Amino acid sequence: MYQITKNCVGCHNCAMECPMGAISYVGLKYEIDPDQCVECGRCEQVCHTCSAIDADAPNTVEQHERIVKECDVVVCGGGSGIVAAVRAAQQGKRVILLEKSKKLGGNTDYAHAFFPVFTNMHKELGLANAEEEAVGVFWERSERRMDQDMIRTAILGCDRFFDWLCTFPGTKKAFQIVPLGGIESCGPMYTSGITAFPNRMFENLLCRDQAIGPGWGGTFVKYKMLEAIRDQKLWVEILTEHRAEHLLTDENGTVTGVLASDPGGEVQINAKAVILATGGMGRSDEKLQKYFGFFDCETPIHRFSVPGDTGDAIDMLQELGVEPDENRMFASIFGPAHHPFSFCLYRILEHPSCLSVNLNGKRWQDETGGLMAGRFEIAKQPKEVAWGIFDQKAVDRIAGEYLNDPALAEQKWIFELYQEDLEEEIALPKAPVKRADSLEKLAEEIGADPAALAETVKRYNEFCANGKDEEFGKAPEHLVPIGNEGPYYAIYGQRFSEGAFGGLRVNPSCEVTREDGSVIPGLYGVGDATSAMHFKGHLAVISELTWAVASAYTSGANAVAYIDSKEGN
Ligand SMILES: Cc1cc2nc3c(=O)[nH]c(=O)nc-3n(C[C@H](O)[C@H](O)[C@H](O)COP(=O)(O)OP(=O)(O)OC[C@H]3O[C@@H](n4cnc5c(N)ncnc54)[C@H](O)[C@@H]3O)c2cc1C
Ligand code: SF4
Ligand code: SF4
Repeated sequence: MYQITKNCVGCHNCAMECPMGAISYVGLKYEIDPDQCVECGRCEQVCHTCSAIDADAPNTVEQHERIVKECDVVVCGGGSGIVAAVRAAQQGKRVILLEKSKKLGGNTDYAHAFFPVFTNMHKELGLANAEEEAVGVFWERSERRMDQDMIRTAILGCDRFFDWLCTFPGTKKAFQIVPLGGIESCGPMYTSGITAFPNRMFENLLCRDQAIGPGWGGTFVKYKMLEAIRDQKLWVEILTEHRAEHLLTDENGTVTGVLASDPGGEVQINAKAVILATGGMGRSDEKLQKYFGFFDCETPIHRFSVPGDTGDAIDMLQELGVEPDENRMFASIFGPAHHPFSFCLYRILEHPSCLSVNLNGKRWQDETGGLMAGRFEIAKQPKEVAWGIFDQKAVDRIAGEYLNDPALAEQKWIFELYQEDLEEEIALPKAPVKRADSLEKLAEEIGADPAALAETVKRYNEFCANGKDEEFGKAPEHLVPIGNEGPYYAIYGQRFSEGAFGGLRVNPSCEVTREDGSVIPGLYGVGDATSAMHFKGHLAVISELTWAVASAYTSGANAVAYIDSKEGN
């Protein structure tokens, strides 16, 4: 019998693939209706987190004595860690890559983009080298709290990583550099943005939804690395279902390998350098509670992190007597958004003309900046959720705007299916979209007081008529009244988290350090496992995937240099 475990991140892939329509979203995760399932196994095939399983599959695991393996570099974590593995192997080192899950990819597989500042592709476009300028800009953005050398590692590391990636066949044509003009920058981009894959890489998926991956920039990197291992015949042994548990050290405290476990027993890997790329702690309830008080909310925050990201690097370091850097941990909590449901409905809910209400049927924010702009305010609303209220005309109008937006031309087909998406979600057992002929009935559907919702709509319509939002000051051009004619829709939005980051202290060479800044010889840290890019409560000024690929690229090279210097090469 096929089942979906609690590890499901709600990416929808299996639901889109199931030939029987047997899979539905039931609040935080998907579930299979056993009466509709014909046991074809497609869901198990496409599930990236190995959450769709055949519960009756025989357990064929044989127990074994401790297995001992030797290599030069062991990389723990098969997300961006695979970049470090290839980088080290290209320089002649024997590498073992340990991945806890049955599949490689980690959160890296979900991430859309990383953002280099100045690469050979920028050069070809005649853009000026703005790397040092970018260091200054990001430093200012961090309110001068970040170490400039760390910022430099992130920027230069990502730039050199990208140039290196472009040496692999097929990379250049997959990416496009878009100049943003002058020192204008947007989010983590500086002077230029990089776009990749106008449409998601479908691999073996039918899924047309764009809300979350896998299938974007991170997936591209993973496949390029796997191709390189195959085509360049690199010495990289990939061991999935291998969890690194303890660091091995000699009498001087130099790291000499890891003790891991596979389903059958212990596996000891003796190595000259160890790279910890075990990701963040977005799936450890215990650590989220301890470091962020994450669960103090009535509606659980939807978590996209892969199940393997449980902050194992923190435990491994604590065993060596090194505490994590709590001041530089960060849990990303966004929303409320219609996420992970249909991307098209997500965009409709995010539209500034949306009227958003809480469970009391009252408006709770200025919607001009989209619902996500209210990610702090929503925490104070009942059950921390919101509903966007629309009439049919509004839905048609907003979808029409997207359909006519030249910037979204490549994604037109997604927006064309908005009515289909509405119908699909209205039919779900715990429907995240409600429809009713009257506002009173709609209020009942979402559990709000009909009189309160009617009053909210009346007041809002008056603001629209007067062109002035006296409650929240919403921009007049987005004040569009809710009409007298149904049907009316309510689209659900809740909070979600892409991950929780931090733990290991690293220096700009990506060496892991103790609290006093001294280096733990032979140990390197990568990506979300590190306390490098964040400060408590502050979103990173440089995007996470940018740091992940930059630090993986840097660690791979520095681990090789460390081994060579020890061996006198
Ligand atoms: C939905 C989503 C969208 C995102 N979009 C973006 C984006 O567009 N841009 C951006 O910059 N960032 C984005 N991010 C964040 C980005 O994906 C991550 O910051 C980045 O991929 C982290 O890479 P990593 O290698 O550190 O961790 P991961 O990619 O998560 O890899 C860690 C791996 O280590 C494995 N592991 C854990 N413990 C062990 C152990 N003990 N032994 C062996 N293996 C272990 C895990 O199973 C996992 O496979 C997104 C994240 C999510 C979830
Ligand atoms: S993670 Fe995605 S593919 Fe896997 S069970 Fe959940 S919704 Fe389905
Ligand atoms: S096994 Fe096949 S029919 Fe059953 S839920 Fe999975 S995809 Fe659907």
